[in-house]
Amino acid sequence: MANYYNEKTELYLNGEFVKASEAKMDFYSQSFHYGYSVFEGIRSYRTENGKTKIFKAKEHYDRLKLSAQALNLPYHWTTAELIAATYELLDRNQLQDAYIRPVIYAPANMSFNLNTESFIVIEAWEMAPFLGDKLIRVMTSSFQRPNPKGFKLHAKAAGHYVNSIMASHEAKAKGFDEALLLDMNEHIAEAPGANLFFEKNGKLFTPAPGHILAGITRATVIELCSELNIPVEEAVFSKEAIYGADAAFFCGTAAEVIGFESLDNQPFAMKWENSVSRSIQLAYKNLVKENRQELVNEIVGVE
Ligand code: PMP
Repeated sequence: MANYYNEKTELYLNGEFVKASEAKMDFYSQSFHYGYSVFEGIRSYRTENGKTKIFKAKEHYDRLKLSAQALNLPYHWTTAELIAATYELLDRNQLQDAYIRPVIYAPANMSFNLNTESFIVIEAWEMAPFLGDKLIRVMTSSFQRPNPKGFKLHAKAAGHYVNSIMASHEAKAKGFDEALLLDMNEHIAEAPGANLFFEKNGKLFTPAPGHILAGITRATVIELCSELNIPVEEAVFSKEAIYGADAAFFCGTAAEVIGFESLDNQPFAMKWENSVSRSIQLAYKNLVKENRQELVNEIVGVE
């Protein structure tokens, strides 16, 4: 098990900074029993100038609010106050390259009735940027993403992640690094915790919103494509569309941009180093580290 905290670690709990080892939550919480909570996965980076920067902090905390509202969890926090609390949390724990996990959870309640209050915890732990050259072996999961008529899939709700955990277990048990889930119509959807892009003839393709959590990293990749003049298309794709592609990658806050070595043991047509996808990976790295010069050099092709 990973070491998320030690005796000194503090977390943010309902307006106060408390020791992680001493913090308490109610075991009668509706969240604990039914997976009824919402959360975010955010990263901070030590940027080129040595400062700590939370990447897309506003987008993440705005989504936390939307997720809470989608699930009828009372929400009274502002994005500004939570961003300030998160910077203080990083500072108190002396973290720069970190993963940040806010959770909105419900009080004690064994019924399915609405609550009048919610609680917040923000945890953070060290996570070095990866953004490496490792490629992953992916398998198509036998688990589908949930039916969007059964869940508010645009919300980052804890309960949805039972599906993600099952798909990941299956992929790892079969010797793969990660799963690719299809949706209920057998169209390509996403990874257990990341979005998918694939590349053909210098163009990128990604599943349209509807059956996925259309992530903040996915939106960032689309922005980078426009900066780098890379065409990108959002549409509905059958599984066959990705076989024979030049390259493919998953992207998400935790995964960053990570290329595929193979899908269902079938390799991709192009070497990762030569793909447009690889240039997106580099551009993303420079963006999170605020290394604008390198980004410009990439665009104009300076070594
Ligand atoms: N899909 C799922 C199911 C996820 O859990 C995540 C991670 N939040 C993503 C996509 C990627 O989202 P983001 O880029 O906002 O981290």
